[in-house]
Amino acid sequence: MPTDPNTDFPSLHVSSHPAVLHKLALLRNEGTEPKKFRELVREISWLVGYEALEDARVADIRVRTPIEETDGKRLADRIGLVPILRAGLGMVDAMLELMPTAQVWHLGLFRDERTLRPVEYYNKLPDSATVDLCLILDPMLATGGSATAAIDVLKRWGAVTPVRIKLLNLIAAPEGVRAVQEAHPDVPIYTAALDRQLNERGYIMPGLGDAGDRQFGTGGS
Ligand code: URA
Repeated sequence: MPTDPNTDFPSLHVSSHPAVLHKLALLRNEGTEPKKFRELVREISWLVGYEALEDARVADIRVRTPIEETDGKRLADRIGLVPILRAGLGMVDAMLELMPTAQVWHLGLFRDERTLRPVEYYNKLPDSATVDLCLILDPMLATGGSATAAIDVLKRWGAVTPVRIKLLNLIAAPEGVRAVQEAHPDVPIYTAALDRQLNERGYIMPGLGDAGDRQFGTGGS
């Protein structure tokens, strides 16, 4: 039976915004050069990040306009961005534009191409959790191995209730969403697209190929 994201994946939010759909087609296009590809990663990340912040907490402030004083809000959640190296790096700038005071902690997980399992090689998390909301950034949710491992790391490190964790992707495969949801049903997933399935090499179909290679021009000719 085909996947019905609404019933099968209660923790999944797939953007339906026209601007996201338009940019996503350009991102997928194999003819899109790395420079344009990086711009699109940034722009779509901004839009998905905007949607992911829908329930971020705000605090009341007073602000003086040129005319008079009025009520305003400021973002009250302390936010930690956790880009998964290396492809997640391209999502950081957009998220920092949205949330300039966010802290950025890099987490290095690479996928062993033989086992398709994540291997942690770099971890820049501080000793204890100092934020209210952690956003894990990784453009592709494929098998879910890296995402699940990253969430495991954050939870072990202390980012559990009341600290919230969200996963931000650009393209997700049903296999990855299922894996994350089974391991961590408390972690909402925000993505620009839910694709069909993985191929035998663990790539998302139709996907966009290797998100790291396409950003950094390392795919060969
Ligand atoms: N990582 C990628 O960059 N692309 C995929 O399709 C799957 C994992």
